[in-house]
Amino acid sequence: MTSYTQTEQTRVRRRLERGSYDRKLVHAIIDEAIVCHVAFVVDGSPRVIPTTILRIEEDVYLHGSPTNRLLNTLAEGAPASIAVTHIDGIVAGRSGFGCSVDYRSVVIFASGEKVEGLEKEPIMDAVIQTVIPGHRVRRPTRQEMEATMILRFPLNEVSAKVRDVGVRDIETDYELDLWAGVIPLKMMAVGVRDDVRLKPGIATPEYASGYRR
Ligand SMILES: Cc1cc2nc3c(=O)[nH]c(=O)nc-3n(C[C@H](O)[C@H](O)[C@H](O)COP(=O)(O)OP(=O)(O)OC[C@H]3O[C@@H](n4cnc5c(N)ncnc54)[C@H](O)[C@@H]3O)c2cc1C
Repeated sequence: MTSYTQTEQTRVRRRLERGSYDRKLVHAIIDEAIVCHVAFVVDGSPRVIPTTILRIEEDVYLHGSPTNRLLNTLAEGAPASIAVTHIDGIVAGRSGFGCSVDYRSVVIFASGEKVEGLEKEPIMDAVIQTVIPGHRVRRPTRQEMEATMILRFPLNEVSAKVRDVGVRDIETDYELDLWAGVIPLKMMAVGVRDDVRLKPGIATPEYASGYRR
């Protein structure tokens, strides 16, 4: 199946031409992200928490300390909504109403389940390799793995939304003597700093000095 099935929850109602259920698009938006925002309810109160996200095939993973309230609430099967957002450009229109942003985003509805035992280590490796491809680390200790909770959320109920149209002013505004346009944005590394306690003789690797996203 090339697309996710639309559900009552994931049916884009506003600006529905910007909505998409295309699997490849959803995957690409999630894979480009380091951070997601997870919404859930604790004791009747809404919470939104930013955290790291990883996708492997048709699941996404969140990880953290077992004392983490977000993970503990979600480990009990509480429903979550997970959002991933990229801002691709600032849209400067000829009116306040015409100012906007070009973006790509994904919204996921899912309940999580705990990942246990030997399955955990490859997922943590994948988190590192997704954020810093090529980075080598020592193996985690058993205590470190026990101090890491990992939750898996299936990608079933999911939607994407994309705005990539730039300026869309009302027709009469195009006659105004005002500048309008798009200021593209992207996330980029702006230099690398070696750790102050780096052992002498260890060179900065190319994957760090040339880091790109
Ligand atoms: C960076 C950014 C900035 C934005 N700024 C504004 C703004 O200033 N004002 C504004 O009104 N809207 C803005 N939006 C769009 C906003 O996310 C909503 O899509 C829009 O407000 C409609 O909300 P709604 O509750 O009516 O959505 P509905 O269309 O009722 O939502 C129904 C379902 O559609 C899906 N859906 C809705 N929005 C998204 C989305 N963004 N990504 C993926 N799936 C989605 C979800 O599954 C949701 O449950 C912005 C989006 C992004 C990513």
